[in-house]
Amino acid sequence: MIRAAVVGWPVSQSRSPLIHGHWLKQFGIDGDYGRIAVEPERIDRFFARFADSGLAGCNVTIPYKEIAARLADHREPVVERIGAANTLWIEDGQLCADNTDGVGFAANLDDRAPDWDKQRGEALVLGAGGAAAAVVDALIERGFTVRIVNRTLSRAESLAGRYPGRASADVISAANRYAATAGFVVNATSLGMKGDGVVDLDMSVIPSDAVVTDIVYVPLVTSFLDAAAARGLRTVDGLGMLLHQAVPGFTRWFGRRPAVTPELRTLIEADL
Ligand code: NAP
Repeated sequence: MIRAAVVGWPVSQSRSPLIHGHWLKQFGIDGDYGRIAVEPERIDRFFARFADSGLAGCNVTIPYKEIAARLADHREPVVERIGAANTLWIEDGQLCADNTDGVGFAANLDDRAPDWDKQRGEALVLGAGGAAAAVVDALIERGFTVRIVNRTLSRAESLAGRYPGRASADVISAANRYAATAGFVVNATSLGMKGDGVVDLDMSVIPSDAVVTDIVYVPLVTSFLDAAAARGLRTVDGLGMLLHQAVPGFTRWFGRRPAVTPELRTLIEADL
């Protein structure tokens, strides 16, 4: 039996077992994908001994994405750029690390708003946390220049500083100024998560052909997306990012490339 898991602290909130369990069943693979909660004082040792754990690999969730990147023997270029990993596997006895959040973010948009990156130009990113780092990286890869606005300016500056000439930083209260020229707008803060907090952005200033997305997916239609849709803008919810980021890990561990289907989406939506 091939075994994989999601590792975090806490880990009970993760929907990854549901996603990978669905694909294991669909392919009829003799495999298992579980949850492993590791206390902070044990995490170094856990990764150091990962090769002996019997796991083919794992996903990493909060708060261990940075430590996983640091302790891996081999890092994919995106992990070097972002400094965080969400997908680990063993290759030739070495712990290897990838970050698939950015790939998942872009794949969701490719799926739901196929020409979202056609015009490129300016993208406005609200937030500068771990997820925002992956989002910014993906947008830069797709040819956008990125304005990052965040409550804590230093965090936005530090993120923008990784992409000289391609990204700039400002405070979140300056968002409306940049929204007026943005072809793409994303909420990558945790505002709106379970209805907690509201993103303060004037949707009326956003160009009418812009695409607006939110990486928060609980609720599926956040107040941010609701306001953008009311203004007549094209919107994409964040659930597909979660689904698509899981594809590379499953492919590595279980040897089959799964698809993100409406059936899978319905399954996870029912669990939100
Ligand atoms: P994080 O590293 O803790 O960053 C949180 C971000 O939200 C920071 O930019 C923070 O600003 C901002 N923020 C929090 N409270 C705020 C407030 N009251 N006002 C203004 N800004 C506020 O978290 P993360 O890992 O990046 O995750 C962010 C969200 O993305 C979470 O809701 C998570 O569930 C979601 N997410 C979704 C996916 C997906 O697959 N769709 C993947 C990853 C994460 P400061 O820097 O000023 O604190």
